[in-house]
Amino acid sequence: MGHQEKNLDVVIVGAGVAGLYAIHKLRGLGFSVKAFEAGDGVGGTWYWNRYPGCRCDVESLEYSFSFDPELEQDWHWPERYGNQGEILEYVNHVADRFDLRRDIQFETRVTSAQFDDESGLWTIETDKGDVVKAPYCIMATGNLSTPRKPSIPGIDNFEGDWFHTGQWPHGGVDFTNKRVGIIGTGSSGVQSIPLIASQAKHLFVFQRTANFSLPARNEPMTDAREQPHKATYRDRRKAAYDTPFGIAGYPPPTKSALEVSEDERNAIFEAKWQEGGSISFLYSFTDLLTNKEANDTASDFVRNKIRATVKDEETAEALCPNDHPIGTKRLILDTNYYETYNRSNVDLVNIRKDPIQKITSTGIETQTQEYDLDVIVFATGFDAMTGAMKEIDIRTDAGADIQKKWQDGPATYLGIMMADFPNLFMVTGPQSPGVKSQMILSCEQHVNWIADCLVHLRNSNYRRIVPTQESEQDWVTHNNWVADQTLYPLANSWYMGSNIPGKPRVFMPYVGGVHTYKKKCDEVAAAGYEGFELSA
Ligand code: FAD
Ligand code: NAP
Repeated sequence: MGHQEKNLDVVIVGAGVAGLYAIHKLRGLGFSVKAFEAGDGVGGTWYWNRYPGCRCDVESLEYSFSFDPELEQDWHWPERYGNQGEILEYVNHVADRFDLRRDIQFETRVTSAQFDDESGLWTIETDKGDVVKAPYCIMATGNLSTPRKPSIPGIDNFEGDWFHTGQWPHGGVDFTNKRVGIIGTGSSGVQSIPLIASQAKHLFVFQRTANFSLPARNEPMTDAREQPHKATYRDRRKAAYDTPFGIAGYPPPTKSALEVSEDERNAIFEAKWQEGGSISFLYSFTDLLTNKEANDTASDFVRNKIRATVKDEETAEALCPNDHPIGTKRLILDTNYYETYNRSNVDLVNIRKDPIQKITSTGIETQTQEYDLDVIVFATGFDAMTGAMKEIDIRTDAGADIQKKWQDGPATYLGIMMADFPNLFMVTGPQSPGVKSQMILSCEQHVNWIADCLVHLRNSNYRRIVPTQESEQDWVTHNNWVADQTLYPLANSWYMGSNIPGKPRVFMPYVGGVHTYKKKCDEVAAAGYEGFELSA
C-alpha cells in the first residue's frame, strides 16, 4: 500500500554526501524535502564499500564538507587519508549534527520517477510501495553505486563464499586459513590485496589489466599537517574551485616533461613519489595528460619502480601497465601493494594470457589451471556514472525515457539536467567533472547551483526548468572535444564504459577541469539560466 505526501517541494534520491548536503541546503532555504535511501544508513560509498583497506585517495582535510566552518574546525581526522570507518563516522556525525535523518526514509529503493506535464509533478515510486509527488526531483544516486560482478559461467555452483567489494558484509570477512581468489586490480582490488594477503593462507590475484599505482604514504595526522591547514581553511576551500581537480595546495606545474634533462625529470618524479598522492605526481609537469611522449616518461618512471620492488621478474613485468598512459585511468594510491607480491602466500595469475574459463564448485578454472578456493572476492567495479540512474524507470508523459535517451551514451547539459526531463536534477552527473575531482567539493557545487536555481524559480514565479535540445547537444559536443584534446580516451576505463560488456563506449566525465566548469555554471546562472527554458 502506498501513501502520498502533500506539499513536498523536492524528492531526493540517495543519502550519500550529495543527498545529505542537498537535504541540509534546501531545508535551510525553506523547501520541504524528502529523501529515499536504499541502504539502512547514510554515507553512500562509505556505507557500502567496507572491504579491508578501503580509504580515500584524496587527503581527508580536503575530502570533507566545506559548507560549515565550525564543522571543519571541530572535526579531527586521525590519518592523512581517512579510512572507510573514519569517513563513515564523519558522515554519520554530519547527519546527526544537522539533524538530517528525519527527512530520510532508509531501506527504500526508488524504482520509478514519472513526470506529468499538466500537473508539473514528478511521481516517485519505491520498492516499499510509497508513491510521492513533488515538483522537483534530485538524483543523488552516485556515480560508483551500482556494483557489477562479471557473468563468468558457473558462479552459482561455487560452494565457497563470494563477495563484491562494493557490497561488503557489515561484520567484515575473516580470511584466516582461507584460500582466496580476487578478481580485479582497480583501486578496490589494489587497496584490499595487501590486507587480504596478510590474513589469508593463500591469495591468488586474477589480473586482466595492470594498473598504475602510487604510494599513498598514509600516516597518522600530525599537528604540522593539520594546524596550518585549519588556519587557512576558508582560503583553501575557495582556492580549490580555481584548480582542475578541486584540490588546493599544489602549485601548478610550469614546465613540460620534455624540456628538462632526464636527470632533472627523474629527480622531480622521485620527490613526488616520496611525497605520496596522485595530484602531486600528475602536477610534476604541464603536459603529462596531453602529450603521449611526455606521459611516457612518467609511465616509465613508475614501471621502473615496479621492477625495482617486485623480486620475481615475470610477476614484475605482468604488473607493469602497458595498455594506457599513466593518469588516463583513475590513478590508484596504495599501501604496500607491489611489495605484497614478494610474499610467499601470494600469486599473480595473468588472465590476459590464461583467461578464466569458468567458476566451478571448488574454485576458478583458467584455460590451463584449476585454482582451489574457499573465497572469491570480486573487485570488478561498477556500472559507473549511468548505472544508478538507468536502474530507475525515469519517464515523462511526453514520451521521454532514460533508457532510450541514454542508449548510445549519456547526454546532459552541464551534467546537471537533461533535455526532455523538466525539473529533474543530477548531482555530479555524466559530462560534469565530478568523478575527476575531489567529489565532496563537486557535490557541494552542484547542490549549491541547484539550490540557487530553485530559489530563482520561486522568486520569479516559475515552476518549470528544462535545458533546450540545442544547449544539451552543444554541451555534449564540447565535452567530447575537450576529452579529445587529452590522452584520456586512449584508456579502456570506466570513464569510457569499457568495463561493462555491451555498454556504449563514450567518454563520460568533463575533463576541462573544475575551475573552467564552475565558471561556466556560474555564467549560465548569472545570464538567467542560459540554455534552459523556464516557464510557469
Ligand atoms: P554515493 O556515495 O554513491 O551515494 C549514492 C546513494 O544513493 C547510495 O547510498 C545508494 O544506496 C543510493 N541510491 C542509489 N540509487 C538509489 C535508488 N534507486 N533508491 C534509493 N537509493 C539509491 N571520491 C573522491 O573524491 N575521493 C576518494 O578518495 C574517493 N574514494 C572512493 C572510494 C571508493 C571505494 C568508491 C567506490 C568511490 C570513491 N570516491 C572517491 C567517489 C565517491 O563515490 C564520492 O567521493 C562520493 O562519496 C559520492 O557521493 P554521492 O552522494 O554522490 O554518491
Ligand atoms: P575498476 O577500477 O573498474 O576496476 C575493476 C577491475 O576489475 C579491473 O581490474 C578490471 O579489469 C577487473 N574486471 C572487471 N571485469 C572483469 C572480468 N570479467 N574479468 C576479469 N577482470 C575483470 O573498479 P574499482 O577498483 O572498484 O574502482 C572504481 C572507482 O572507484 C575507482 O576508479 C575510483 O574512482 C573509486 N575508488 C576509489 C578508491 C580510493 O582509493 N579512494 C578505492 C576504490 C574505488 P580490466 O581493467 O581489464 O577491465
